[in-house]
Order: sequence, then structure tokens, then C-alpha cells
Amino acid sequence: VRTLRLGLDLGGTDAKVAVLDGEAVLATASAPNGAAPGREEAALAALAELGLRTAAPFGRLASAGLALPGHFDAERGTGVLLPNLPGAWVDRPIAGPVAERLGLPVALVNDVRALTLAELRLGAGAGARDVVCVALGTGVGGGIAIGGALHLGTGHAGEIGHVTVDPEGPLCGCGNRGCLDRMASAAAIAADAGRATVADAAAAARAGDPAALAAFARAGERVGRVLAAAVVLLWPERVIVGGGVAAAGEVLLGPLRAELRRRACVAPVATLPVLPARLGAHAGAVGAALWGSEAASGTSDRGRGTDR
Ligand SMILES: [Zn+2]
Repeated sequence: VRTLRLGLDLGGTDAKVAVLDGEAVLATASAPNGAAPGREEAALAALAELGLRTAAPFGRLASAGLALPGHFDAERGTGVLLPNLPGAWVDRPIAGPVAERLGLPVALVNDVRALTLAELRLGAGAGARDVVCVALGTGVGGGIAIGGALHLGTGHAGEIGHVTVDPEGPLCGCGNRGCLDRMASAAAIAADAGRATVADAAAAARAGDPAALAAFARAGERVGRVLAAAVVLLWPERVIVGGGVAAAGEVLLGPLRAELRRRACVAPVATLPVLPARLGAHAGAVGAALWGSEAASGTSDRGRGTDR
């Protein structure tokens, strides 16, 4: 008998879905998210439909989870802080309208926490219980697993992107200055390298361009320094680096590892694996499916994740 789990990931650009049977990924799909001012309801409806269409060949769904690129109120199922999602999402019901279309309760989860859960169970973290994850992309997100479960603290634990790198740095959307999110984002690296996009910067770095190499080295160093603080605090078994920017590879990961090892002296960092994420673009949707299933079975605390 199959236990079909649906995962939905409403990203800043694309909507992605994954259908799991237990921990086996049966199908994935993606489409433009369709989100725009005045189109929020339509975007949620399209996401639910994409999920239903993808799951239809496999049978009846048992649970569902929905990953969002920011903060939400887990109890009310509403948006709180979703700056990267086009449209008006603050206080908007999100879980309810999707649940109504699916005919199932929908558990909300932050997209990078979802990625962390997916990597913990099925990816680079498989077999480990204590993991720190960072995702480098449009912004910088994070997630923590402790004792084999996603750790959310009193709400949104894992916000590694809002650790201060430079007290005098650029203003961040969170209100602080010089957050890692602003100092190692795709846009920050591209600007530092003097290129239009981070993909251009990565291509230039691979071709040996000194300015591009230096930009990735600086970003890697910043991420490594913040990860060193997390490692000193948490002593994880593995560190996982995901997100589109991480595709740049060793030009970023080399300086990141070097700085992490230089700074986290008190922890057993010489033997700490720093691994690229393994699950690719649908990791958020896969993690949302796992989260939805844990919420449905009561093994996670759904009441958490609420901003107070
Ligand atoms: Zn910030």
C-alpha cells in the first residue's frame, strides 16, 4: 500500500511539486509560479492543481506540505514575511486555500528548512542526526537538524542569512546591517565580480578571471566565517551547502572550507565533512512532502514556526 506524500514549493520564480511514496520520489514537476499583485489566489490555485495533476497517476494522497520563501504564521496558515514572492502575501491565508483544493490539511515550512529536511533524510545528510545547512541563492537561507529532526526553536531557527558579517554593511530587509544574506547573495557576488549575473561570474571564474575568482573567494570566506560560528555552537556531524550559487563549485567551497577550518578551532573541524547538497532543484518540494507527512502523523510540532 502506498503512502503518497505531496510536497509543494512556492518559489520566488517557479512553483515546484514532488510526489513521494514513503521516502521514494515518484514524480516531480515545475511551472512558473504565476504570482503577481492581484494574482495571489490564482497562483495558489495553480500550485494546488499542479500538485493534484502530478499525483493523479499514483492514487490517493495521504498528506501535504507547502514550502514558502520566508516567514509565515504556522497556526493561522498565513503569510508574514515573503519579500521574494511577487504580490501581497502579508496576513494572506495560504495553507487554507491550498488545503481546500487538495482536500487535505497543508503544513507550511520555510523553503530552506524544507531543503534541510530533504537533505537530512534523503541527500547529503542521510545517516547523520546533527546537520547545519546553508542555501546560497537570491538570498542566503539556512536550516538546522538536531537529533535527526528539523530544529525550529521557538519559531524560525536556522536563519543563518541574518547573522552579521559587517556591522557597517548594506541595510538588510530584516532591519540589520551587513547580514550574510546581503554580503553573499547572488547579486552581491555578481556585483563584486563586475558581472551581470552570478552565472556570468561563475563562468568567468572557471575561465580564470581574477576579479570573479576574488568575488567567489570573498563570498566563500564570509559564509565560512558564519558557518564556523554555527559549528562552534552546534558541533554538527555534517555541513551541507546548497542553492544555485553553490553550483559555482570549488571556487566558492574551497575558500569556504578554509575559513571554516581557520575559525572553528575549538570544534573537531578537520574531520567535519562540508558537502554539496545532493537533491537539486526539487529539494524544497521533497522536504515539504516529508514535513507534511511528519505534521500529519504528529511527529513534528506544527504549532511551532509561529511569529510572536
Ligand atoms: Zn538581515
